[in-house]
Amino acid sequence: MTYIKHMAFAVHSVDDTLRRYQTLLGAGLDAKVVVAEKARIKVAIFTVGDIEYQLNESLDADGRFSRWIAERGTEGLHHICYAVPDIDAALDEALAQGATLRECQACKVFGSHPHPEGYVAFLDQETGGIELELMQVYTPAELEQYKSIRGI
Ligand SMILES: [Zn+2]
Repeated sequence: MTYIKHMAFAVHSVDDTLRRYQTLLGAGLDAKVVVAEKARIKVAIFTVGDIEYQLNESLDADGRFSRWIAERGTEGLHHICYAVPDIDAALDEALAQGATLRECQACKVFGSHPHPEGYVAFLDQETGGIELELMQVYTPAELEQYKSIRGI
C-alpha cells in the first residue's frame, strides 16, 4: 500500500523554520537536526502525526536547495516521498501512464537506486507541480546490507 514516507521542504534556515513549527504548531520539539557535510545540507527531521517532515537547507549559496529557492523565488514543498511495496512495479506502472523519470540530484542517477533508507526513484512534477519520490523502504536485512556496503 502506498503511504507518505516524508515531505521535504527547501528552506533558507533550518533553525528559523524549525523554531516556527515548534512555536506555532508545537511540532518538531523532538526534531533531529543533522549537518550532512558530504551532501552539503543541514536537515531537520521530525514527524507530524505519521508523516516525516524534512526541512532542508543548503550549506552553500549554489547548493541544490539554495538554487531551488532562487529559481522559484520562495521556499516551499520540494518533494513528497511515497513509500511503495515494489519500486520496479510502481515505476513500470507510472512510466506506462506517461510519467517521466527525473534525475536524483544527489546521486545523478535516473530510476531506482539505493539511498540510506531504501531504493528510490524520482519522477517529474506529475501531481500538481510537486516532484515525486518513490521509495521501496528496505527490509531490516536490506538495511544491514546497505550499511555494510557503505561501511556505516
Ligand atoms: Zn539518489
